Amino acid sequence: MDNPLLGEHALPPFVQIRPEHVEPAVRELLERNRARIEQLAALEAPTFATLIEPLEELQHGLTRAWSPVSHLNAVVNSEALRAGYNACLPLLSAYQTDLAQSEPLFRAYRTIAERDAAELGPVERRLIEHAVRDFRLAGVGLPAERKRRFKTVMQELTQLQAKFEENVLDATNAWSWHVTDPDELRGLNAMLIELAARRARERGVSGWLLSLDQPTYVAVVTDAQARPLRRAFYEAWTTRASDRGPGAGRWDNSAVMEEILRRRHEAARLLDFGNYAEYALATRMARTVPEVIAFLHELARAARGAAQAEFAELEAFAGGELAAWDVGFYAEKLQRERYAVSQEELRPYFPLPRVLAGLFGVAERLFGVRIRERAGVPAWHADVRYFEIEAPSGAPLGGFYLDAYARPHKRSGAWMDECVGRKRLASGAALPVAYLVCNFLPPADGRPALLTHDDVVTLFHEFGHGLHHLMTRVDYPSLAGINGVSWDAVELPSQFLENYAWNPQVLGQISGHHESGAPLPAPMQSRLIATRSFHAGLAMMRQLEFALFDFRMHAEYSAERGGRVLEILAEVRREVAVVPVPEWNRFPHSFGHIFAGGYAAGYYSYKWAEVLAADAFAAFEETGVFDPGTAQRFLDAILSRGGSRDALEAFVEFRGRGPDVRALLRQHGILPAGGLAA
Ligand SMILES: [Zn+2]
Repeated sequence: MDNPLLGEHALPPFVQIRPEHVEPAVRELLERNRARIEQLAALEAPTFATLIEPLEELQHGLTRAWSPVSHLNAVVNSEALRAGYNACLPLLSAYQTDLAQSEPLFRAYRTIAERDAAELGPVERRLIEHAVRDFRLAGVGLPAERKRRFKTVMQELTQLQAKFEENVLDATNAWSWHVTDPDELRGLNAMLIELAARRARERGVSGWLLSLDQPTYVAVVTDAQARPLRRAFYEAWTTRASDRGPGAGRWDNSAVMEEILRRRHEAARLLDFGNYAEYALATRMARTVPEVIAFLHELARAARGAAQAEFAELEAFAGGELAAWDVGFYAEKLQRERYAVSQEELRPYFPLPRVLAGLFGVAERLFGVRIRERAGVPAWHADVRYFEIEAPSGAPLGGFYLDAYARPHKRSGAWMDECVGRKRLASGAALPVAYLVCNFLPPADGRPALLTHDDVVTLFHEFGHGLHHLMTRVDYPSLAGINGVSWDAVELPSQFLENYAWNPQVLGQISGHHESGAPLPAPMQSRLIATRSFHAGLAMMRQLEFALFDFRMHAEYSAERGGRVLEILAEVRREVAVVPVPEWNRFPHSFGHIFAGGYAAGYYSYKWAEVLAADAFAAFEETGVFDPGTAQRFLDAILSRGGSRDALEAFVEFRGRGPDVRALLRQHGILPAGGLAA
């Protein structure tokens, strides 16, 4: 069989790929790669050219074959495709684990590093440094017994994290709220009420059944006028999978959390780190535990006053003391009253063609690139468009697919992903190609697609990731584009570009009423911009509470005292909480980001990356947001460098100093604009 996934193509042959191609192609590729790796690992005197370049090539080829499969699985899902995709996951994971834990390869990289360091360039040295670090973090190089224990602990962690998630899911699904009096539904939107009526009919009960999924929870606590309803939802939501609330004790994660923390601590100790937070920082831009704690405290000190003033104002607006389940409701009311601008009213001003032209215009003005659509490139759906990007010299830089609209069988959300990674190796070269995926409302009734401003910001964000991938000048796939970039710095280009979607100059260019062509009227524009700092202090303190709790818990674990989950939470709250929280609130028990997901000792990264992005953008504000010199320095120091250099050094090269939190505080109105006093 001619398998399109195994052929050599500049762009994936999407039209020819069938679900039945997936598993045979992956099996064959992995077999070929394994045989080649075995040869490479047995080399007598390996060098960068004879060992590392071929390994980079193998990884590039594998990603290139697998990327269209995982992409199709996400955007045109079908049962057959999902089956093929799922069949490959364990094969790929076993392959990656074997590669990551290969003692012979580890020894070969170290040999090259020690013997050839003087002849290698900085990028090559960095690549080896990264590889050796990752081998160590995977337990390679440990004495046999510790290595065995490390593997066991990691496997147990996978199971415990899955258990945590299951408990949250079961507790969430088990709870619902039955409404028989329509008065109780006042304030909720018609779609939600219709859904609740349908659920009630399906269950054979009268009235309405509200479930505890996230959209319903958020809608109830922000829109429901009935206070008891808001309280019931708040209690059910914040006590899920815990010892409190309506499902108390049935899916209690308390012991699971303790076990997870104990295993993480043990894994970190086996690798000679003091604790799990130190282990997590080994691959991050932030260097030390005290540095992260000081960073979070600095933001908390700066934002506390603003948050307290916002809360006092909100209580005055509501005319009385507010409980936790009132805050979202009155905040929404206040925001509506004060700014009188809704996302729906903004839609007619942001037709997608206009926004895209404006967005490309921003990239063209900043970096001198040209972006043009190439018609007739086969893709996975008729709505998908393909664009090419050229350097100022006219040299091609790469290309990207844009899949903009929501449709059935497409995963929700928005993301940028690698289709082809850049490489320039002895064995051949490739230019980067990206997927930009969004879920905007499609065009209808002869109108173009109309975006909310939230959508516009999302598009700028993903395009920022896209530029990071497409404008890289790094030759080695493992360090090109977003690859190998410290995880707490990878959102810098995307959040940086978001700033342009709020800039008055740019708003004039990306807006144009789909009927009259008129740009967003000035009063609407200033109200829109003002919403950016609404309750920024409260939002900041809430994020800091999560981040401090997560980080301290992983840094302070001790064998004698255990995780102290609720104690640490209470200490953090005494320090940063502005909105009163009831004693029975158990939000850690459903905090999947850190207990089940990849954000363990990493929640601080949200704020960390925001600070980098705001401070980078402030450099542009100081010189003019389209200043070519500043843009060139940003491109040279950060955007084009991928993971080929340390993220902090890159930032310092661009800014002339380390990151400063004040730009973010000014951006959100927490510090006065332009105030540079120390
Ligand atoms: Zn992002």
